[in-house]
Amino acid sequence: MLPSRTRRLALVSLVAALAAANLALANRPEARHATVWWKNYHWTRSNLRVLLATSSYSSNDAVRAVNAWNATDLTLSSGTPLGHDIYVADGLYGETGWRGLATVIPALLPKGAIATCQARLNRTYRSSPTNRTMNWRWQGTYCMEVGHCVGLWHDDDSGCMNSSAMSNGTANGPSPQNVQSINGRY
Ligand SMILES: [Zn+2]
Repeated sequence: MLPSRTRRLALVSLVAALAAANLALANRPEARHATVWWKNYHWTRSNLRVLLATSSYSSNDAVRAVNAWNATDLTLSSGTPLGHDIYVADGLYGETGWRGLATVIPALLPKGAIATCQARLNRTYRSSPTNRTMNWRWQGTYCMEVGHCVGLWHDDDSGCMNSSAMSNGTANGPSPQNVQSINGRY
C-alpha cells in the first residue's frame, strides 16, 4: 500500500499523461486535413434550387457534380431561370486565367448568408495550349465551384476542394470530411 500522498501524486501523473495523449491526438498531422469554410458563407436553409444552364459540352459532368453534393444533408432540386439559388453554367469566357469560378452574392442579413451563387466553368481555359494536356475533368471543376457555392473553401482533403487533387483528375467528388462538415452545418 502506497502512502496516501504518493497515491495522490500517481493519480495526478496519470491525469497529466492522459491530457498529453489528447493533445498529441489533436496535433497529429491528420488533424490538419479538415474542411475549410469560405469566410462565413452559408445558406440559411438546406433545400436549394440549382439551375443547370450548361451546354451539351459539359452537362453530364455538371449533373454528376451536383448529384454528389445532393448526397449530403443538402437537398438540391431543379431551379428555373426565374427561381433558383445556385446557377451552374459553362461558357467561352475568354483568357480569364480561371477554369472555374464561383461568385457568391451575400444576403444583407444575417452576416455571411448567401443570397445566390454562380458556379461557372470556362471552356476557353480547356482549349488554351498550356492547359490542353492537363489531366483534369470538368466534373471536378464543377464539384469545386458548387462546393464554394455551399460555403466551402480549398482544403487538403482527398476530395474536389483540394485544388491539386482536383486538377490532376484524382478527385471528382466531395471528400468524406466535406460531407461531414456540410451535414454538421445544414
Ligand atoms: Zn476553388
